[in-house]
Amino acid sequence: MGAASSPVVPPAAPKPGAQPVIEAVEQPKARILVVDDQAENLLALEAVLDSLGQDIVKASSGREAFRYLLERDVAVILLDVKMPDIDGFETAALIRERERTRDTPIIFLTALKSEEHLFRGYYVGAVDYLFKPIVPDVLRSKVSVFVELYKKSELLKRQAERLHQKNQELERSIAERLKAEQAVRELNAELEQRVDERTKELIRSNEELRQFAYVASHDLQEPLRTVGSYAQLLRRRCQGRLDTSADEFIHYIVDGVTRMHVLLNDMLAYSRVTDSQRKPLAAVNCELVVDAALLNLEASIKETQAQVTRDPLPTVMADDVQLTQVFQNLIGNGIKYRGDQPPCVHVSAREGDGEWIFGVRDNGIGIDAKYHERIFGIFKRLHGKDLPGTGMGLAICKKIIERHGGRVWVDSRAGEGAHFQFTIPV
Ligand code: ADP
Repeated sequence: MGAASSPVVPPAAPKPGAQPVIEAVEQPKARILVVDDQAENLLALEAVLDSLGQDIVKASSGREAFRYLLERDVAVILLDVKMPDIDGFETAALIRERERTRDTPIIFLTALKSEEHLFRGYYVGAVDYLFKPIVPDVLRSKVSVFVELYKKSELLKRQAERLHQKNQELERSIAERLKAEQAVRELNAELEQRVDERTKELIRSNEELRQFAYVASHDLQEPLRTVGSYAQLLRRRCQGRLDTSADEFIHYIVDGVTRMHVLLNDMLAYSRVTDSQRKPLAAVNCELVVDAALLNLEASIKETQAQVTRDPLPTVMADDVQLTQVFQNLIGNGIKYRGDQPPCVHVSAREGDGEWIFGVRDNGIGIDAKYHERIFGIFKRLHGKDLPGTGMGLAICKKIIERHGGRVWVDSRAGEGAHFQFTIPV
């Protein structure tokens, strides 16, 4: 094994993106402590060990060696047995007593081969013996074994420290992650709770609004009926007996009351669409539904000589009364917003992706693209007083269709008829 300070763990080729947990570390030189009272022996030992490339520390007595070991660690101690003052065995005993040097390898150098001598040496902690005259190769190979051992155990110590550090870093980052996750969980829970509260609040205020609209339109009808009845009575009794302006005023009152009546009825119809008491959806034959709508529109069909045709229509899950209302409003508009020609309205149905797509196409005055969204809002009208209406018909259609889980839209251009379409899930 080479004496140079090469790392024990060869640097492995790092995987892309992966940080090695244990990096190869530059190894410092190991120290070899040589203890002999004879300076020439020390020099001779140093000369033999020099080629190992480590630091050789010389001590000329047991005391000097011991003092050195108080502050420094060494890889191995070469200890001459026969020394004045305190001999090698006594020095070894002192070294072994100290916690820090308890396991430092000691090789005794001696000329004496007696068993008692050997036994004493092992007793005080020798790991090996070298007999004088020293054979340089044997000395070098024995010492280099301990040097390697020392280096390996130092390396292991350093790696263990690094591992410990990495472990602590990991634990810290896991703890931080857990804390962050906990914070996110808490925030989410808080958010969910807030959304939940808001949703409940919205449902409550929506319901209150719906009830308000219902009660208002319902309760307003009673006094309106009274105004209407007395205005009619006034007209019957006094028409022609007062001056002409009075007759005109009475006419306006009756007309206003009738309009208000229609408005209130539409408002009532609108607020009833999502009534929680509504009947559940059931299988509805759309051909029958369209027939019912046409029956309701009979008068205006006759009056305008409208032609209303239809494709074969499917059966869908719906509220039949509400679906009749939708067809009646759309077909009725097709007739009402007619052009110069007699109205032609065609009702169609085709199957889409998980839904039926119904169409009501007319040859009327059409709608400019910029109004396509707006006309579905409540009380939104494009054609003023020249045609009767409250601007609630399409809003009611939209609400009914959305209640059924569908969508409604219009394709049209001014002067080119209109094609209203809506979907009902299969
Ligand atoms: P109303 O018919 O009572 O005014 P609607 O909500 O049914 O209310 O329609 C809103 C407006 O959309 C109408 O006033 C009209 O201007 C326009 N409209 C609806 N249907 C048609 C149609 N088939 N052709 C042209 N315009 C239409």
